[in-house]
Amino acid sequence: MRERVRVRFAPSPTGPLHIGGVRTALYNYLFAKQHGGDFVLRIEDTDSQRFVPGAEQYIEDAFQWLGLEYDESPSKGGEFEPYRQSERKEIYHQYVRELLDKGAAYLAFDTPQELEAKRTSINNFQYDATTRVQMRNSLTLSQEEVQSLVESGAQYVVRIKIEPGIDIKVNDLIRGEVVINSSVLDDKVIFKSADELPTYHLANVVDDHLMNISHVIRGEEWLPSAPLHVWLYRSLGWEDSMPQFAHLPLLLKPEGNGKLSKRDGDRLGFPVFPLQWKDPKTGELSSGYRESGYLPEAVINFLALLGWNPGNDQEIFSLKELIELFSFDRAGKSGAKFDYEKAKWFNHKYIQSTPNGELAQSFLPVLAEKGVSAKPEYVEKVVGLMKDRVSFVPELWQQSSFFFVAPTSYDEKTVKKRWKAESPAQMEELIAILQEMDDFSAKNQEKIIMKWIEDKHYHLGNVMNVFRLALVGEGKGPHIFDITTLIGKEESIKRLKKAVSSINL
Ligand code: GLU
Repeated sequence: MRERVRVRFAPSPTGPLHIGGVRTALYNYLFAKQHGGDFVLRIEDTDSQRFVPGAEQYIEDAFQWLGLEYDESPSKGGEFEPYRQSERKEIYHQYVRELLDKGAAYLAFDTPQELEAKRTSINNFQYDATTRVQMRNSLTLSQEEVQSLVESGAQYVVRIKIEPGIDIKVNDLIRGEVVINSSVLDDKVIFKSADELPTYHLANVVDDHLMNISHVIRGEEWLPSAPLHVWLYRSLGWEDSMPQFAHLPLLLKPEGNGKLSKRDGDRLGFPVFPLQWKDPKTGELSSGYRESGYLPEAVINFLALLGWNPGNDQEIFSLKELIELFSFDRAGKSGAKFDYEKAKWFNHKYIQSTPNGELAQSFLPVLAEKGVSAKPEYVEKVVGLMKDRVSFVPELWQQSSFFFVAPTSYDEKTVKKRWKAESPAQMEELIAILQEMDDFSAKNQEKIIMKWIEDKHYHLGNVMNVFRLALVGEGKGPHIFDITTLIGKEESIKRLKKAVSSINL
């Protein structure tokens, strides 16, 4: 067992990071920070066939947005660099050689055709202790044959030699002890001469060992590989410092059957990636939480509860609290259903508790996109008035655009319902009253306008709704005097005048 807690998140840069991967990274982060340990990012890019340009940068950007900082990573470096597996080739060669020398692994020269022929002639064929004797490998060929094949440049793979009939124990912090008999395992390929690169299994074990990783926390799709990894640790003589495993259950579709996929997001209209992603080959765009107006804190809070619970009803947690409270004892053993409505609810809650100044900063780019430039102090006031009504920052525009631009048209239904023959004359009177007003505070406006309506025996609802129509363009919005106070006397009068002239036409 290792003394210091060191965990790693080890994605393969094969595309955008799935939100389930973000949850895995988050649990790694929480566990590391709780123990004062290290959180390492390692890029597992040994499969050149599946490498996607831009994916590594995407991963780093996503964690930067989320505020989950790595202690060591390809961009940051660290004591155990390099953190990109493609740059660690020579390191793996050394261990491949060691396994071969020990007789714990062997070379196999079977061609894809030969393997295919076996698969068709033997039901459920697997390359193992029973079948390896019938194959072309360094266990069946003479030393001279092997040597001449290698020298002639024949392609080969290195396979791990699994001895049958041995119980392999995987100690899992979530599932407890899982025992698998080695007889069910096959002699997995751990290295390919074609590209001089190890496969995932070997690279993963070697790096976890060399990087002093104490806990391997990853998705349950890797649980079937864990016995092989344990076998590799043993074969390399590293059993005593083997990491503890924790395999996290899947994130499930909202309906609960099967793994949450990008297609579910497309079908139901929610992102499954932290940031927007443009496929470099097809140009296809996938939406991201960031671009959809989510706050990183809300995403973290939401993900933390998908597969872990605090044991009580509390739902809102700061990152600090999560670090304190997280434990594998309260991590679920079965899959967690993805609930998009809940994600929205979290974001709404976080928007409410975000200081107005901060929220205004996030709203400014949305305004800029709409061609609006406004003073941050003004935006801050608008945001303060309107944030209760939204779940996402961009939604603030739909709710509050009238604070920034005067209406250019008037909602027909509201006009029909509220605009009466007497409305223009009433609005002219109102304009005159506003013009006279020195104290334009909401309180004073209300006092004077209410008195005017009362004195004239006007219909309060109609007058105020026509007033609103002129200011907003439709029958929505916050308290009317909050609007006028913010946009100011001049602008309020201008809008009233415009309504009178354009609605009358
Ligand atoms: N490279 C693997 C992945 O893409 C890592 C799995 C592990 O954490 O061991 O998920």
